[in-house]
Amino acid sequence: MELKMVKGIGPKSEALLNKLGINNVDDLVTYYPIRYEIYKRSNLDEVTAEERIVIDGKVESTPIVLRFNKGLNKMNFRLKMKDGMVGVSIFNRAFMKSNLTIGTNVIVIGKFDKTKNIINASDIKFGYLGLEAKIEPIYHLTTGLTNKSILSYINYGIMLYGKDIPDFLPNYLKERYHFSNKSITLNVVHNPDDNKKLEFMIKRLKYEELFKFMVKINYLKEKNKKENGLKRNITENNIKEFYQLLPFELTGDQKKVINEIVDDMNSKKIMNRLVQGDVGSGKTIVSFAAMYFNKLSGYQSALMAPTEILATQHYNNLKKILDNKLNIRLLIGSLTKKEKKKIYDELENGQIDIIIGTHALIQEDVKYFNLGLVITDEQHRFGVNQRTNLKNKGISPDVLYMSATPIPRTFALTLYGDMDVSTIKEMPKGRIPVKTIVKKDEEIASVLELMYEELKLKHQIYVIAPLIEGEDENLASVNNLLDKMTLAFGSKYCISILHGKMNNALKDDVMLKFKNNETDILISTTVIEVGVDVPNASMIVIFDANRFGLSTLHQLRGRVGRGNIVSTCILISKNETERLRILEKTSDGFIIAEEDFKLRGSGDLFGTKQSGDMTFKIAKLPDDYKILTAANNDAKEFLKMNDIETMKLKQTIINEFDN
Ligand code: ADP
Ligand code: MG
Repeated sequence: MELKMVKGIGPKSEALLNKLGINNVDDLVTYYPIRYEIYKRSNLDEVTAEERIVIDGKVESTPIVLRFNKGLNKMNFRLKMKDGMVGVSIFNRAFMKSNLTIGTNVIVIGKFDKTKNIINASDIKFGYLGLEAKIEPIYHLTTGLTNKSILSYINYGIMLYGKDIPDFLPNYLKERYHFSNKSITLNVVHNPDDNKKLEFMIKRLKYEELFKFMVKINYLKEKNKKENGLKRNITENNIKEFYQLLPFELTGDQKKVINEIVDDMNSKKIMNRLVQGDVGSGKTIVSFAAMYFNKLSGYQSALMAPTEILATQHYNNLKKILDNKLNIRLLIGSLTKKEKKKIYDELENGQIDIIIGTHALIQEDVKYFNLGLVITDEQHRFGVNQRTNLKNKGISPDVLYMSATPIPRTFALTLYGDMDVSTIKEMPKGRIPVKTIVKKDEEIASVLELMYEELKLKHQIYVIAPLIEGEDENLASVNNLLDKMTLAFGSKYCISILHGKMNNALKDDVMLKFKNNETDILISTTVIEVGVDVPNASMIVIFDANRFGLSTLHQLRGRVGRGNIVSTCILISKNETERLRILEKTSDGFIIAEEDFKLRGSGDLFGTKQSGDMTFKIAKLPDDYKILTAANNDAKEFLKMNDIETMKLKQTIINEFDN
């Protein structure tokens, strides 16, 4: 239903509502308050002078306005409360005077001056407190809209739209949980008068939202299983052949995951598998195995990485192992038009077996001969759409995702609920755990000493700062650290910098020089975060470490300890050192992710790209995990039912996310 059907909404307010993402009455009535203000009647006998107080009563005397210069004014009137009288004084509300006639019910918020028996008010609202409290919904607003006007639009919308507001809960579930229908629920959520009732109604909306989401996830999972994918015939011998190409023995977990992948590839269903494993656990080689088997079955593979550096590294590593067996190409944005054209042609006519690249792989002009396997590395870096685009390039290709961001159990269910998950826990043999030390800002001298010891051993060091330039003088930046490091080490050692504002060619060049041990210290922002491998780098020093989530720090720490030398991670911070100590205690990415999640919520875990896929209007994870679990079980049950009511609702939910 269109917004202009609502009384009071004209073109101007419509534009303002659009700004808030409200485009129709449906959006309007489900525009939930961001919080509630609770006005609870204070007992004036007990309050202190500093306390914020709330009382209600009737205006007892006509307000008197005093005007000062500079437009300042002050208004005074007497208020008759249930049990006594009090003076009210408020600045700059002269405009309210005409509405404050004698006998008007008002709620006054402010501070109480006992000796003068006056309330110095900060706000006056019309109306009265219920039995004991008034609950006011507070909305996120934009200039030109008031809390009051938006609430009145919403209420009109609920009245107008009433029973037609889509309700995604089947009746049997509403009965099971004693949930109300949608319009009653919305009415309470926007006009609450009782806290308990309000909480229950919010819970009902959260449940509905998560139920709908889990119906979708479970439906997709079922659908994937039914769809016909490529059925290959990979044998034990093929697997052994692959093992023999490798310079090292795979870990038990790597072998287990390869077997899981082979089972998927040999079955008729489409593979939709996530391989998660801590940084350095060796996920890449597992994806190489899948691409090798895919080629044996005659199909093309594509591997998409989030950065050119990483794509290039994968390309070089893969060539070392499979070069004389397969035709492998690298497609990145920095290639010339001519080079790209050649690759496009070879992809289309099937000459290329494996293509590795950044999202250049999903550009429209890229066509494949017979894409049978799609792999996304560091998959949390890509949004769902980018992943789907690559998948759509094939007929029904198998899909493999790799992620070094361990997903807390809570999130695995939602984010990856439609995937099968393989986990690599075991680290390759001979890995020496990285030693982690938390240091305070003022201990910088001792940090420089540790760095010097490391440089003398001809090892390399990463230095990480949260900023590029000195935008905020309280935070370390790449540029000011360059000055400091040059002062300390510049005469003997070679220092370079890396950050996101540099162009790709330059970034690659810097990274390559560091990789080839031509520079000793690399000062960088978190752009080095993902997957890059420099075995001779044995120390990472992270400035203002408290600015980063624990998972990010853990990822950064994973940049060192990739060779066979003892490595150190130094976390420098002004405050919050306690939080950082979790990293001193454990190197288990899953434990760290859970902690991070508890402390900072999901935002930090997935980066902005992911957040769009995961935002709920009212549910909050992990707080609402219990509701999510219930909703998930109910969604599964719901999908199995086939009475008419259920079928209709199922179709409605599915239609909603199909288009
Ligand atoms: P990640 O899981 O973080 O993507 P990589 O796949 O990049 O880790 O592997 C990290 C390093 O460990 C690479 O240099 C890789 O060659 C090496 N590696 C992988 N598996 C093994 C193994 N089983 N034994 C020894 N080294 C391994
Ligand atoms: Mg990796």
